[in-house]
Amino acid sequence: MTQELMKRIFAETDFVHRSGTPEELRVAEYLKAQCDALGVPAWIESFPVAMGEIEEAHVYADGKEIPCKGFFCCGSGEVEAELYYMPAQDPVSVAGAKDKIVLMDSSGIGFFGYQDLMKAGAKGILFQYGDIHYPIDDIDERDLRAAVVGEEQKVLCAMLNTADAVNLLRSETKRVKISIRQREYEGRSNNVIAELPGKRDEWIVLSAHYDTTALSHGSYDNMSGCVGILGVLEALKDKPLNYGLRLVFCGSEERGLLGSKAYTKDHEAELPKIALNVNLDMIGTWLGKFIAKVSAEDKLVHYLSYIGAELSFPVEAKQGVYSSDSTPFADKGVPALSFARLASPNAAPIHCRYDLPEVLSMAQMEKDIAFIAEFTRRMAMSAVCPVGRDIPEKVKTELDEYLFRKRRA
Ligand SMILES: [Zn+2]
Repeated sequence: MTQELMKRIFAETDFVHRSGTPEELRVAEYLKAQCDALGVPAWIESFPVAMGEIEEAHVYADGKEIPCKGFFCCGSGEVEAELYYMPAQDPVSVAGAKDKIVLMDSSGIGFFGYQDLMKAGAKGILFQYGDIHYPIDDIDERDLRAAVVGEEQKVLCAMLNTADAVNLLRSETKRVKISIRQREYEGRSNNVIAELPGKRDEWIVLSAHYDTTALSHGSYDNMSGCVGILGVLEALKDKPLNYGLRLVFCGSEERGLLGSKAYTKDHEAELPKIALNVNLDMIGTWLGKFIAKVSAEDKLVHYLSYIGAELSFPVEAKQGVYSSDSTPFADKGVPALSFARLASPNAAPIHCRYDLPEVLSMAQMEKDIAFIAEFTRRMAMSAVCPVGRDIPEKVKTELDEYLFRKRRA
């Protein structure tokens, strides 16, 4: 893929396109058109997503209003209680949450953290977002996920800017009130699928999510991965492949991998025919090291570092679970890996207004795509894909923890 075309794709998708919004659909249609232009027809498969339209959200600190964003899908109403700052989630800290509105140090919460707070009797949760130097009105919008709430009750949740969170403590705030009014409904999000058939009726799935968070234009996270799989498609489309390539551009990854979860659920019967999932999430930055996180056998980890050495392309290959769309595949028994070029958040921060095309190097994009295309070519042209289908116990344990089936040790 030429640098000009890559640049154009980044420029034409340089806007917020959050899960379940018309902008997300616009980018889905745009990616479909990119596949069509390469001569590989694509189609869209939609799936339901819980949505919340915030009508009003307020947080008051001892009666004085401070800027906030209400969490989608956390319900509507009003709650007032004593403020309790809780930087850690150990049992002693959690015990102090009874009847309090809890201020966390994070921008979100996992299943066990939420369950513990509800059992302890917390009345509401304040999260914080960003960097004390970010503009005060830069406050990310998140949702209270059904997978986190489980069987517990919902409580009102709101996000503050970190500068305001610090000020709550500085000003010795005693009581806080959260008030939210929202309309909750079922929306739609979309996966974009394209297929390049091979000789066998078996596939390598290339995946990358295209949705963004609420403030991000998502050039690095993750239009870079989408451009990556388009580049691989272009490089391999005239090659005689033994395994077919299936491209899955996932929607709603930022809401908890909803697109890849929907794909692996809706295509469950075909999963035995997927030899490997190669997922791209964030490549092509000026700074940063290239990594491969392998949710499959050890041999693939070694193979990746060998092929990197052979091609003079440094790869830090490790076994484990990556927080991206490779995870639902691995969880259903499909060997999977994620490639990423991980830049320091000082140079290329994500999930914020600074994730823009200028953090990317088109020359680095070309090199990253060339490596990923060569690896994919070798796998797709192999007589029999060499990657074993047994997911190692260590990876299974990490999957159980990541997917909230087991507490982290
Ligand atoms: Zn991402």
